[in-house]
Amino acid sequence: MRRNRRQLLQAGLAASAGAVAGYATNAAAQATPKSVVSVAATYITVAGTSDLFPVRRIYCIGRNYAAHAREMGSDPTREPPFFFQKPSDAIQNVAPGSVGDHPYPTLTKNYHYEVELVAALDKGGRNIAKERALDCVYAYAVGLDMTRRDLQRAMGDEKKPWEIGKSFDRSAPIGPLHPALAAAPLEKGAIWLKVNGVTKQEANLNQMIWSVAEQISKLSEAFELMPGDIIYSGTPENVGPVVKGDVIECHIDGLPNLSVRVV
Ligand code: MN
Repeated sequence: MRRNRRQLLQAGLAASAGAVAGYATNAAAQATPKSVVSVAATYITVAGTSDLFPVRRIYCIGRNYAAHAREMGSDPTREPPFFFQKPSDAIQNVAPGSVGDHPYPTLTKNYHYEVELVAALDKGGRNIAKERALDCVYAYAVGLDMTRRDLQRAMGDEKKPWEIGKSFDRSAPIGPLHPALAAAPLEKGAIWLKVNGVTKQEANLNQMIWSVAEQISKLSEAFELMPGDIIYSGTPENVGPVVKGDVIECHIDGLPNLSVRVV
């Protein structure tokens, strides 16, 4: 007997839910569910081990250093934190001591670096108190929130979403995760970025408007945080453009430098 589309859909849902007891149907619905395509999982390497950290979501805070907020045209004294996401597969792992080849993306003529401290979570929850938020942090890493600035600005001007400016392929280069650093709050220390050996960004983690703990707490009001989530904690002032051939070197005290060559 031919089955209509609705019946097929229901059978598929039952199968994917895992063989509902007493669901009398044909062999297709009782078969073990299988993926119909293969989708690669995304991981970040863990320093000093062969371990891998699976990435669930990438959250990024905007305008989290006062001087950067001003250069982006907003008032850092009044603005509550806001967040956007990159797709998890935007991750580009870069081994310490190496210079990763980072592709210049399509569509942009103003491609910007943003060096950021990244926190990786191995616990989550909703409405996490600021005082307990750092219990969720598994490790820290150095990351780059690469940005098609012209497209981000154009979309912002038109009150449209930022995705095309922020959430594209390979827009999140990152170094290995360092779990040992999570033993204590990483609330101060130099953060800098050089292009071709020339210092472009230079600040201190203690200049963040919203600390990592506050970011986790605020995020958890809007989203249930889960193990595998990572948070890009914002960039200091003096973001700027790179072109093909440029080498970007990023530093945060206590972490190995992250280097990429734009190709
Ligand atoms: Mn950023």
